[in-house]
Amino acid sequence: MPCFAILPLYAIITGYFEVLMKIDLHSHTLCSDGVLSPADLVARAVERDVNALAITDHDTVAGLAAAQQAIDELQLPLTLINGVEISTSWQQQEIHIVGLNINPHCPTLLSRLAIQQQRRFERAEEMARRLAKNQIPDVLPAVLALANGAAVTRTHFARHLVDIGQASSMNNVFKKYLGRGKIGYVPNNWVDFAEAIQWIQDANGVAVLAHPLKYKLNGKWLRRLVEQFAEAGGDAIEVISPQQTPVQKRELCALAQLHGLTASVGSDFHQVTTWNDLGKNLYLSDDVPTVWASWPQIPASPQV
Ligand code: AMP
Ligand code: MN
Ligand code: MN
Ligand code: MN
Repeated sequence: MPCFAILPLYAIITGYFEVLMKIDLHSHTLCSDGVLSPADLVARAVERDVNALAITDHDTVAGLAAAQQAIDELQLPLTLINGVEISTSWQQQEIHIVGLNINPHCPTLLSRLAIQQQRRFERAEEMARRLAKNQIPDVLPAVLALANGAAVTRTHFARHLVDIGQASSMNNVFKKYLGRGKIGYVPNNWVDFAEAIQWIQDANGVAVLAHPLKYKLNGKWLRRLVEQFAEAGGDAIEVISPQQTPVQKRELCALAQLHGLTASVGSDFHQVTTWNDLGKNLYLSDDVPTVWASWPQIPASPQV
C-alpha cells in the first residue's frame, strides 16, 4: 500500500488527530466589551475547532457560569478555563494582567473586582465630563445603555462616538479622543500591577502579562516590564497575540525564558474581524514551556 494511504489509517488507529489541541487563552464576551454572549462565544469556539478557551473579561468573571452552563447543556467538546483580565498600573502605564485558572467564586477576588468596576464607573463619569467640555455632551447615558450592565469600558465609548459620527472608526476614536493624553482620556487609577498578580494568585490562578507589545514600549522599557513582572511573582507571558510577526514571537519567547516565565497564547477576541478570530494563528512550537503544561484539564499534546 502506498505511503499516502497508510498515513491517514495510522492516524485513525493511533487517534493522532484527536490529540491535536487548539488553545486560546484570552477572549471577551458581552460581560465586558466583546460582542458575543458567553453561550455564543463558546459555540463559536467549537465551530473554530478550539479545544480549550479562556474567557477573560475586563475586571469581571460574570460570563463564566453561563459559558460553562452552555458547554454542559449542549455537551460541547470544549474545556473552559476560568479567567479574568485585570487593568493595572505600572509606572503610569496601563498594563493588563490576565488571570487563568482562577477560582471564580473566591470572595476576596470578587470584592476586589467590584472595586475595579466602581473605578470603571467613576472613570466613565469623568470621561463623559471631559468630552462634554469639548462639545460632545450627554454621552454617559448612551454609553451605559450600550454596556447594558457589563463592565463599562472605553470600547463602549468608542462605539458610541463612531455611532454619532465623531470618528470614522474605532481606531480613530482612540487616536482622537480616548487614547492616552487625548481629550477624553482620564489618567489611570488602576490597582498596582504587583498587587493584581497577588489577587490572581490568592484566587489560585496564574498571572499572565497580556499582549506585551500593545503597550508600545521601546525595547528597554519592555525588558524592564517583563523583569519587574517576574520579580513581582508573575507566572507567564502572552507570547502570541494577533498580528504579531514570527520575529516578535521569538523575541517574546526568549524574554519569557530569560525570566523563567512560561508562555501563553490568546487571540484577545472581541468580535470577528479580518485579522482576528478565536484560535486564529496561535500555534506555539513545542520547545517552549507553556502555562498549561501542568493543568490537568489540558492533556499534554501537540497543538494545531
Ligand atoms: P479600558 O479597559 O476601558 O481602558 O478599554 C480598553 C479596551 O479598549 C481594550 O481592551 C480594547 O478592547 C479597546 N481598545 C484599545 N485601543 C483600541 C483601538 N485603538 N481600537 C479599538 N479598540 C481599542
Ligand atoms: Mn477590550
Ligand atoms: Mn487587554
Ligand atoms: Mn483583552
